[in-house]
Amino acid sequence: MIIILSSQATDQDVEKIVANLEGRGYGIHLSRGVEKTIIGAIGAPDEDKALIAQQIETLACVERVVPILKPYKVVGREFHPDRTMIDVRGVKIGGDEIVVMAGPCCIECESQTLEVARFCKKAGATILRGGAFKPSTSPYSFHGLGEDGLKIMAAARDETGMPIITEILDVRDLEMVAKYADILQVGTRNMSNFGLLTEIGNMRKPVMLKRGMSSTIEEWLQAAEYIATRGNYEVILCERGIRTFETFTRNTFDVNAIPAVKELSHLPIIADPSHGTGKWQLVSPVAKAAIAAGADGLMIEVHPEPQMALKDGPQSLKLDTFAQFMKELAPIIRAVNRVPAWSPVSELAD
Ligand code: PEP
Ligand code: MN
Repeated sequence: MIIILSSQATDQDVEKIVANLEGRGYGIHLSRGVEKTIIGAIGAPDEDKALIAQQIETLACVERVVPILKPYKVVGREFHPDRTMIDVRGVKIGGDEIVVMAGPCCIECESQTLEVARFCKKAGATILRGGAFKPSTSPYSFHGLGEDGLKIMAAARDETGMPIITEILDVRDLEMVAKYADILQVGTRNMSNFGLLTEIGNMRKPVMLKRGMSSTIEEWLQAAEYIATRGNYEVILCERGIRTFETFTRNTFDVNAIPAVKELSHLPIIADPSHGTGKWQLVSPVAKAAIAAGADGLMIEVHPEPQMALKDGPQSLKLDTFAQFMKELAPIIRAVNRVPAWSPVSELAD
């Protein structure tokens, strides 16, 4: 249930209610908004709920008690009407600014990573992406450089100042990957790896949760709930396309999911048109559609020589194409009353 306190409620009132509910076996999630304090109480046996709600509602400091009917609670907007903004080394995700995470699908070597990082930063990207542990459908294909890849990303961060996002594939590597990553990425294949989600929930580290390729929006939000309910509230969602009958594109980018998630959840949402389409020619138009639909940012794969890329070359933008794309994106961002997190560097695209 959600307990909405009146504006007169004091800190002591909050403490008393929290202690009372914790004593009855509820898990508590506090949300202090600008105007209202909301207490989310989760997890007590069903038969107690109606009675406890009635009792709490008699308190003068309580405005309303609302049952939560959705299968996710902490990540839902009922519990937290204000939008969540996540600060990653000064880069703000979920505020007015649109952030672009860019970089290669996988880290291949240091010089190439540095080249891409420097260029993407100049073109306006504020977060560097790259995979060191790569999920792969085929056991025979490249699986990434592992910790050596993370060290390369850390070197790129040291030089450019860009925070880094990288995928965590296996719960056994979590501590090590978290040592390097500024944002942990949970990929589409792991969205339902509840053991991994729970362990990430126990950390205090931003995480980007990609939508499972065959998951509904509700299942995806429940996966986010696994993380948030353990106390890690810094969850970013990422729409990366779903499987449909269409085979022309690698996946079908679900633009509907963006406004839907914004209505249902307070968490920021990023769009990944690279995996969403699988074709570099479609990345720019779909990215623009995602921003127009309300996405808080983008994840874009960029490679200096896509024809030589070890993975995902067909969906990677070349450096100059990326710079041109960033130039075209800025007016679309402004048209939907948002702000590019960069100032355009026109000479890169001319
Ligand atoms: C990736 O970002 O490189 C990746 C593997 O993404 P997804 O999990 O969406 O396939
Ligand atoms: Mn990829």
